[in-house]
Amino acid sequence: MFEDYIVPEQCPACNSADGWKCIGLKKKGFSLGKAAVGGLLLGPVGLLGGTIGKKTLTYYCTNCGYTGEYKTLST
Ligand SMILES: [Zn+2]
Repeated sequence: MFEDYIVPEQCPACNSADGWKCIGLKKKGFSLGKAAVGGLLLGPVGLLGGTIGKKTLTYYCTNCGYTGEYKTLST
């Protein structure tokens, strides 16, 4: 299917960009609180700046309720 490491910039179900929010991420061995807050404020760029390694981002659409998980990498 699609690349795992590409996070959509809008909801893939209803195409709403306004309602498409990052609600969390999972990554082992790292404190994620600040990175998660950064993600809410800045999107994936903020998350990449806050953490190093491989992680899973959880996105939720407040418009239609769609939830998706996306793996991403940073260096
Ligand atoms: Zn949606």
